Amino acid sequence: MNESFAYLRSGDLVKGREAYQSAAKLNGDNVSERYKIILLKAESDVLLAEQNFESARQVANLCLRYPGVDKYTLQLGQCYLNRALANIGLNRDNFVFADLKRSSAMFDVVGTRSWKVLGLRTLAEYYDSRGDSENALRYFKLYYKGNKALLFDKRQSDIFLLEQEFATASLAQENELLNAEKELGELTLDKQQLRNRIVVALGIMVMISAALLLIRLRSIQKTNKELLKQSTRCELTGLYNRRYLEQRLTQPLPNHLSSFGYTLAILDLDRFKQVNDTYGHDIGDQVLVEVAKRLDQILSTNDVVARWGGEEFVLLLAGNQEPVKELELIRQAIADRPIETHSGQLELTTSIGATTHLTEQQLNSRTYKKHLKSADDALYQAKQSGRNKVVII
Ligand code: GH3
Ligand code: MG
Ligand code: MG
Repeated sequence: MNESFAYLRSGDLVKGREAYQSAAKLNGDNVSERYKIILLKAESDVLLAEQNFESARQVANLCLRYPGVDKYTLQLGQCYLNRALANIGLNRDNFVFADLKRSSAMFDVVGTRSWKVLGLRTLAEYYDSRGDSENALRYFKLYYKGNKALLFDKRQSDIFLLEQEFATASLAQENELLNAEKELGELTLDKQQLRNRIVVALGIMVMISAALLLIRLRSIQKTNKELLKQSTRCELTGLYNRRYLEQRLTQPLPNHLSSFGYTLAILDLDRFKQVNDTYGHDIGDQVLVEVAKRLDQILSTNDVVARWGGEEFVLLLAGNQEPVKELELIRQAIADRPIETHSGQLELTTSIGATTHLTEQQLNSRTYKKHLKSADDALYQAKQSGRNKVVII
């Protein structure tokens, strides 16, 4: 019925009637009293629009006489208005003023402004058509006032709708912006977290690599040290070995600080074979270790002693002592104190042959073997002349 009303307003009578007829099909026992009254009002609207004034008047009358219509003030007012319009169309005076006034009074109570305005305009026009200019003017004024308010209402509601629309749109935009900002924030956070993780992982990797490298380096250093020791030291006594001393002697010696020059000496244990033969090889080893210890203790820091082989030791003395005295002290260090072994104390002596007062120029890679030979010759002499002796050449 609203659709029909809208079509009629817009001047489309055909569609207005069609819509009304669709609404009328619903008319039956189940519809409410109010619906039936509205249907009659709508039918009279259609007939009025079609300028079928007589039928419009009859239908309006049916509406006005419908049982219980008094309860529906708005519909009652509309039916009064329609009856007045039908009578106007028919050029009849029958109750036109009365109907129009009744409808206006009812619209005043319950109607919307648009109904009030329609009632007032109809009344004004009717007064005008009857030549009652005074009343026509009065109602036209009321009509214009009402119409202005109506337009104002419409504009207000349009503005309100626009404002609503704008507020909704800007709210949506703000929301979108906030979401975008949030997503951006999350992305930035993700990126930052990823970067942090990479940095931490790289840091850990670098630290692990550095630690592994350090461990490897330490182990290499240790191995090198061990290898160096093995290659330069005698395993049994811990003294330098022959390889080391020979290498020392092939290198240029430092400028000699002592006023006695260098001494090259060979020390050989006397009758050592007997120790092995009597007490066994292990006791012989014990003796060698103890002799090495005593030699090491008695020598000064500039002196070098090496186990040359078997029970022979070679000494390169550069200490500040007078060489003969020093060698004598070495001989005494072995001879004067018995050596403690698992088989008891053993008395041992040594023979020492030496060549003394050598300058660093005299003792070099080409000549050291010659000087060693001299020392060995001196040793031979010491052995020959009864052992436990120092012989200098
Ligand atoms: P001399 O007074 O003439 O030097 O007599 P010696 O018995 O000391 O001489 P010799 O050269 O005949 O004997 C040296 C012995 O040293 C022979 C060998 O068995 C022993 N010997 C060599 N090296 C070692 C060793 O590392 N340990 C032990 N226990 N004995 C060794
Ligand atoms: Mg020997
Ligand atoms: Mg010997």
